[in-house]
Amino acid sequence: MNAPSHAIVPGTQYAAHDPCNLCHQHAVRVVSLRDRDGSPLCTVMCTGCGLVRADPMPDAAALDRYYRERYRIDYKRQSAPSRRHILRAGRVALDRISRLPRLQRMPAGGRALDIGAGGGEFAYLLGRTTGLAVTGIEPNEGYAQHARTTLGLDLVVSPLNEAMPAGGTFDLVTMFHVLEHLRDPGAALARIASWLAPGGLAVVEVPNVEATCQSPLHLFHAAHLYNFNAPALERLGEKAGLEPVDRWFSPDRGNFSVTLRRPEGRPLPAVAGPASGAAEACAMPDNAERVWQVRAAHTPWRHRATLQPLGRALRRAGARAGESLALRRLPPDPRAMLDRLCDEWQPPAHAMDGASRAA
Ligand SMILES: [Zn+2]
Repeated sequence: MNAPSHAIVPGTQYAAHDPCNLCHQHAVRVVSLRDRDGSPLCTVMCTGCGLVRADPMPDAAALDRYYRERYRIDYKRQSAPSRRHILRAGRVALDRISRLPRLQRMPAGGRALDIGAGGGEFAYLLGRTTGLAVTGIEPNEGYAQHARTTLGLDLVVSPLNEAMPAGGTFDLVTMFHVLEHLRDPGAALARIASWLAPGGLAVVEVPNVEATCQSPLHLFHAAHLYNFNAPALERLGEKAGLEPVDRWFSPDRGNFSVTLRRPEGRPLPAVAGPASGAAEACAMPDNAERVWQVRAAHTPWRHRATLQPLGRALRRAGARAGESLALRRLPPDPRAMLDRLCDEWQPPAHAMDGASRAA
């Protein structure tokens, strides 16, 4: 039974109707009551493991409809990527490829799957730089159509929970900033595990719930149903039968990725239900305490007292000016633009030591 709404303030503990996706416990603590636009959004943390989620979860059919039709328009203001978006996404893609050395050591002739492929920039550049045959899954029609026609990509238009990529297993599955949008991230990782060849790798990147680089008032938003820290995401991967092998944090620690491997010579676990011992093995009360402490200490006042908001605004303005200059000299055709970016790419310094297991 949910706590009566008039009694809920940050810090309130109650038993949520839905169990935790990771440890299946119901006990939660309220982290925030507003999204980043100031609208009501109840965000709670499971006190059993530290996984943070929206409570209650939105309805599944409404979510699917939203991602098929509206999401890219709401967040990018268009139904196909602009040149600026392609430039930005292309640079982010090259940064990802260069900071994840394991991506460059995939088997020759191997297969990769990019989930939430968007306009296809990462899938295209991954194929170009590694020789992997890359398939994409993207729920939005307009972006998928763009990726097919301008980049010649093999793209399935589908939400992840209905996608059936053809042709057997993959050596690599990548998923950047998708898992936090899904109603059942545990089931999503189990699907990914089932698509991986033994020894294959999954790279999953999400926003970091421990981030202090932006105001706590801007941390939560309605489309992010889950918020992870690295131990919770790795434990969710382990529950799906995947071994954590690498962690990477962005320089401002606002995002992180984990690399998970499907072990060889071991079957995947059966899907763990609430009654199975697997859920209890996922309890991490120390991690819940850590997440709570980080979030409680990062108040809007303390954030304003640092120089981070100013530094962030200056970096954004500088990046935008740099993009405008680059767009003037880059070819208009999306594929030719990505080819040029790839040929000119110089990995930033942080990419060279990116794949460490720094906590
Ligand atoms: Zn939990």
